[in-house]
Amino acid sequence: MTTTTETLVPFTEAVQRYDPLIGLETHVELGTRTKMFCGCPTAFGAEPNSQVCPVCLGLPGSLPVVNRMAIEYTIRIGLALNCSIATWCRFARKNYFYPDMPKNFQISQYDEPLCTEGWLDVAVGERTIRVGIERVHLEEDTGKSLHVGGATGRIQGAEYSLVDYNRAGIPLVEIVTKPIEGTGADAPVAARTYVTELRDLLRSLGVSDVRMEEGSLRCDVNTSLAPRGSGRWGTRTETKNVNSLRSVERAVRFEIERQAAVLDSGGRVIQETRHFHEDTGTTTPGRSKEEAQDYRYFPEPDLVPVAPPADWVEQIKAALPETPSARRARLQAEWDLSEADMTALHNAGALDLVAETVAAGATPADARKWWLGELARRANEAGTELADLAMTPAQVARITELVSAGTLNDRLAREVIDAVLAGQGTPDEVVEARGLAVVSDEGELTKAVDEAIAANPVVAAKIREGKTAAAGVLVGAVMKATGSKADAPRVRELILQRLG
Ligand SMILES: [Zn+2]
Repeated sequence: MTTTTETLVPFTEAVQRYDPLIGLETHVELGTRTKMFCGCPTAFGAEPNSQVCPVCLGLPGSLPVVNRMAIEYTIRIGLALNCSIATWCRFARKNYFYPDMPKNFQISQYDEPLCTEGWLDVAVGERTIRVGIERVHLEEDTGKSLHVGGATGRIQGAEYSLVDYNRAGIPLVEIVTKPIEGTGADAPVAARTYVTELRDLLRSLGVSDVRMEEGSLRCDVNTSLAPRGSGRWGTRTETKNVNSLRSVERAVRFEIERQAAVLDSGGRVIQETRHFHEDTGTTTPGRSKEEAQDYRYFPEPDLVPVAPPADWVEQIKAALPETPSARRARLQAEWDLSEADMTALHNAGALDLVAETVAAGATPADARKWWLGELARRANEAGTELADLAMTPAQVARITELVSAGTLNDRLAREVIDAVLAGQGTPDEVVEARGLAVVSDEGELTKAVDEAIAANPVVAAKIREGKTAAAGVLVGAVMKATGSKADAPRVRELILQRLG
């Protein structure tokens, strides 16, 4: 159905001849629990049309009232993105007809957005790209159409369509970047990293659950090309339906390869909306935007202007939490890590886990070692995220404690990890149940050492002559005799004492 016959230029070639220009429009559903202009609840996954009222259905005679919490959340986002906050602004009616919009207009913001002119720093490889934020505005979300009877769930081929208005009226913030220049071959990664950073920031602000898979964070990706170094930007396309971080990167990459081929063949990139397809990693044309739509915007007559008092904005600013990037910089210093170490930790999704493990008493080095080593390997084998492993930071901290106390060595610790992951209890319960503790009873160890010496007279003689390297054989014998539960360095010390 969505097969593409587009010609593509391989990515590395495309970015040798063309400079990419990208821009991102991100929609965020606010977690205000009630809708933007009425008191309807906003829980995800409720029975269709069970969270509606005359206001969000646009019935005659109903009047909207602005949700104060949504204004506060939007100001919080604007401040965290270094924006100026409007002292006075109005909502506007955006007029268009579409079945998922019961009022036949959407209350949005047009030429008077609540927040303007900000920026967000994004680390891409070795460099930091400052992404300009053009505007952050507030609007109401639309409902959802469900197309039934077709193979693809899209309107083409469907027998009939159903509309669910539960989402209509949920507060939606739109965050629009300025065009991002100069990223070159890093453009796809830069786009993905920006959305990741933005998502983490929004989560830290507590304004949204930012679940891309549930649509509470949605992204449109604009891409255009200029012949390398010319600065003559071509027509841009707007790719929609980009529902995961990975897809953001793939969508930009595909558009660069596709547009390069169009331009190479002397063609013209058409200004249009395109749809991204997860399965193929390609985009296909949607609505053409050659003729600009006229939304006949005008100030919303049913609402008073929004004029946040300066002292309220100051209060919101003073209460902003530490940003994720500031937190990373602080932890990097506290844990004495290099930039690359911190990036690896962040990219592995292990930052919060390590922080919690450290808070539970482990050293930063130990916490990193186990999460990025043994546990990352297990997560990888199981095909899950680190955070989804059946192992808590407190349990990892306890294992590192048992290792540093000499109760466990690394091999036994790995056995404990296996057992905990298999649901056999806490680290202490596993150690107890399996009798896993390292043998540290000196009498027992000395006995095992003497037996090993008696059983290996030739090796013992060599060590007596000063060939201490041979001690490894005896250490091995003792480890075997104790089921690997002895503390190897201590065994070696005892052997050398006995034969010194
Ligand atoms: Zn309602």
